[in-house]
Formats: sequence, structure tokens, C-alpha cells
Amino acid sequence: MTKKDYYEALGVKRGASATEIKKAYRKLARKYHPDLNPGDKAAEAKFKEISEAYEVLSDKEKRKKYDQFGHAAFQSGFDPSQAYTYTTRDFDFDLNSVFGEKGAPFSNIFEQFFGNRRKSPYYHKTAKGKDITYSLELSLEDAFKGISTRISFSRNDHCYGCTGNGMQRGSQGRTCPNCKGSGQQGTGKGLFLMEEPCPRCRGTGEIPMIACQTCAGTGMIPKVENITIKIPPGVNTGSKIRVAGKGEPGTNGGPPGDLYIITKIQPHPLFERKGDDIYCEVPITVTEAVLGEKIEVPTIDGKATMTIPEGTQSGQKFRLKGKGVPHLKGSGRGDHYVTIKIVIPREIDQASKELLKRFGDRNPYNPRIDLRY
Ligand SMILES: [Zn+2]
Ligand SMILES: [Zn+2]
Repeated sequence: MTKKDYYEALGVKRGASATEIKKAYRKLARKYHPDLNPGDKAAEAKFKEISEAYEVLSDKEKRKKYDQFGHAAFQSGFDPSQAYTYTTRDFDFDLNSVFGEKGAPFSNIFEQFFGNRRKSPYYHKTAKGKDITYSLELSLEDAFKGISTRISFSRNDHCYGCTGNGMQRGSQGRTCPNCKGSGQQGTGKGLFLMEEPCPRCRGTGEIPMIACQTCAGTGMIPKVENITIKIPPGVNTGSKIRVAGKGEPGTNGGPPGDLYIITKIQPHPLFERKGDDIYCEVPITVTEAVLGEKIEVPTIDGKATMTIPEGTQSGQKFRLKGKGVPHLKGSGRGDHYVTIKIVIPREIDQASKELLKRFGDRNPYNPRIDLRY
């Protein structure tokens, strides 16, 4: 097998600059990388050829040797002093002789160039897609019981027109000016420098020459999703429920983001919720307050019976233990608090008035005794 000239393999002139060589390699590598051409032996061979060429031509020393001696320079056992005898011949050679005695795995060069590629079906770093949020209003009753409900929301998805790269079909890409084609951009400072996918090209290193008409080059289009979600009992305003994988698609084959349902509890006509406790004002009659009575009170769980003791005052609070909202985390429930409000009749008949007067005469007391000043 004759070896193709390295310059020819990369499609550059012999005098090409380091930048031109890098650019040429990058372009070809994108086209022929085995991950993008699974099972294509020809592409694999081509990829090996260009990577080999790049390995040599990107290294000043190696390039110099190659320019001087050709492929022979990298033949094992090559002796520069004997070199001139070899220059006119072509050699088959073993990849390991090019990539060092250690026989470094071939893919290493590619990794040096583009970062760790093994996890990614594309060229650059993978990244999880963005999380999205959906605000869901619930009645207090639904929050108490927990519900299954169908929601409809819009999220970005890979564009079907361009399969997500933003390029008009058949058009070429050009190097992203933001990241200079690396697909990554650094954030943070000094020791904490982090690499993240370039937002301009979404980590691909390329931006479209002609933007896809379907998505205007963004690679994403809105998609309406209908899903059934389960809301556990006990959610409150501001609770977050995660629906895994229903966020935006990942970058470069990364996993999708998550959907977060943020709940908001509607005001209730009878109950006020504080944490997992519920407060409710319960009116009682003067007679019930004075004499005591068993009464029915509403709770989130339906009717409950409670005993109003003799001599109950207006504003007095009673606790019905465990009659509140279930705790979202852990077991058990909050409490239900009843606040008593004594309600007197607006109008009573003459006989009742006389009875009340007699009641007052028989029970003289000064409720304002503590208001001295
Ligand atoms: Zn598109
Ligand atoms: Zn970029």
C-alpha cells in the first residue's frame, strides 16, 4: 500500500501555515470521524490517513523531518544519516511507528485536538439540556390529596429541518467566530476555569453559512408536549416537582434537561394554610360558648366533630391534631386550628331581652377590669 503525501491527504499546499493545516484537518476530521460514519471502512481509513498527516504536519519538528525525508522519516529504525537512500521510496508503515513507541491509541490525537470524544457522538463536549419550568395552579384540596393531571407546554426541540445544526440542507458551515471553532468557552477565573459549550454554535464549533429556514439557524424549534404528571400530596406554593428528561435537548448528544413543575396553591374560601397547618374561623352562638357544645367543623379532610368547652371565649384557638395537610417530605400531617368567633343574634324578641336582662343581673362581672390606666 502506498502512502499518500501528507499535504495531499489534508488538501493543503506544501507551504501551508500551521493554521491552514489545523483548519484543513478539522474540516476533514469532522467529515470522516468514525463516530459519524459508523461501519464505514473507507471513512475510517480516510480518517486515519488525515489524522496521521495532521499528527506529523502539526508538529514543527516532525514536519521538518517529513519535508526533508518524506514518510521514511517515521519508519522505525530510521537513521537520518542514511536517510537519503530512502527518500525516493514509499513505505508501508505501522501507525505505532508514527505515534511513538508506546503505541498510543490512535484516537488520542483526536482527543488532544477536540477534547475527549469518546462519550460524544459529535465533535465537542456534551452538555445536559436546559431545565425548564412549568407553573401549575392547584386548589388546596388537590394539593391535599395529590393529583394526576395532564399538562401541555412548549419546549425547544431539535429542528427537524436541519437535525439541530442550524444549517440549510446542503449548505456548508463556517467556523464559529465566538469560540474560534473549539465549541467551548471558558467561564470563571484562574483555578476555577470551566469549559462550557459555546452558546453561539451550541458546542459544534460551526455556524451555518446559510441558516436553516425552519429554525432560522438556531437548530431548535418549539414543540408542544402533552404529558400526564403526578403531583404528590402536600405540595405548597413554590414546591418543585422534577419530571426527568422533559427539558430541552442536550448539546452534542448530551442528556436532555428536566422539567420542573412549580406549584401554586389557590386561595381557599374557608381555609388559610400556613406550612402544613390549616386555620379556619368557626362561628358559634353565645349559648354554645357559655354552655359548651359538640359541634361539627369543616376540615380539608371533610367534617370533624369537636367539643366546645363551657365558657369558650371569642378568639380562642383549638387544635385538631393531624387534621392538616400531609407533609410532602416524611410522613404525618399538619394540624387544623379552629379559631372561635362568638356570633350574637342581631335581633331578638322582647321576651328574650327580658331573659337576658335577668341573666345580666344574676351574673354581674366587669370584663374591662384589666383595662385600668
Ligand atoms: Zn433547523
Ligand atoms: Zn462557538
